[in-house]
Amino acid sequence: MGVLSFLARRFVAGEDTFSAIEAARRLNGEGLKATLNFLGEESRDPEQTQGTVAEYLRSIRKIGEKEIDANISVKLTQLGLSLDQQLCLDNLFLILEEAKKTKNFVRVDMESSAYTQRTLDIVAAASKAGFLVGPVIQSCLRRSQKDVEDLNRLGLRVRLCKGAYKEPPGLAFDQRREVDENYDALAAALLDGGREPAFATHDDRRIAHVVRCAAARKTVRGRFEFQMLYGLRRRRRRELAREGHQVRIYVPYGTHWLPYFYRRIRERKENALFVLKGMLSD
Ligand SMILES: Cc1cc2nc3c(=O)[nH]c(=O)nc-3n(C[C@H](O)[C@H](O)[C@H](O)COP(=O)(O)OP(=O)(O)OC[C@H]3O[C@@H](n4cnc5c(N)ncnc54)[C@H](O)[C@@H]3O)c2cc1C
Repeated sequence: MGVLSFLARRFVAGEDTFSAIEAARRLNGEGLKATLNFLGEESRDPEQTQGTVAEYLRSIRKIGEKEIDANISVKLTQLGLSLDQQLCLDNLFLILEEAKKTKNFVRVDMESSAYTQRTLDIVAAASKAGFLVGPVIQSCLRRSQKDVEDLNRLGLRVRLCKGAYKEPPGLAFDQRREVDENYDALAAALLDGGREPAFATHDDRRIAHVVRCAAARKTVRGRFEFQMLYGLRRRRRRELAREGHQVRIYVPYGTHWLPYFYRRIRERKENALFVLKGMLSD
């Protein structure tokens, strides 16, 4: 895998569908679920978006054939959102139709705030059309409390994360403490009124908060899940699964793995540290 092979091997499952399915199978063997993400974003070319769709159709079929406990996570800009919204919708619906055949769920990742409203609108429309689909909410955004209220009302399955994009201060909290406090408040709101929420974080304090909130509400463990990125906190994820929690691992794969690292390192220096910390601690 070239110059970054050491990093890539730990954080990316491989370059093809087979590697992703095998990674998911290994995770299933450890009692963990998976969500497969074919790496890429900001497609500049309609043909490229078709390649992405073809890959997702292949991975959804393989998940079904091999009886893997996994779903997929897609990015709307990879399906053409910044080129042509109709192209993106057509692409997304092809993927949703395929997933529907095996009653599988499709997660739509959240990208920068430039796409938040369009992404939420598209996911809500797809859900209304009868597809099993759910969005991601970022606790760094000030708007997220209102979004969670709306999504709870609609009964959509939400993944909560802190947010990986550098955002303008007006739209986002700039202090880490505020992002964390908002994460905890949104987690409580999702446990109170949400449908099968997913808590994506490697942060022990956030995890402990979710566990406390769920216990206080007597939420059954199967009604929510924790999610972590492939290659990070491997010991912790096993502990959570052993404690009886559902844990899903985000498994990125594909040949466009370089931007996956570059974007995080370039956009936010904390993410470079985050990758390094992941390599040093397990
Ligand atoms: C499954 C999943 C899906 C995601 N999807 C999206 C998405 O759609 N959109 C988006 O914008 N972002 C997404 N993200 C990224 C997310 O927004 C954050 O940028 C990223 O997860 C880092 O935030 P954190 O909550 O893990 O905690 P951080 O703020 O990075 O870390 C907080 C604390 O957690 C502990 N910690 C973190 N990592 C380790 C480690 N390896 N070992 C030991 N301790 C550690 C440390 O105490 C650290 O101080 C996703 C993340 C995950 C896990």
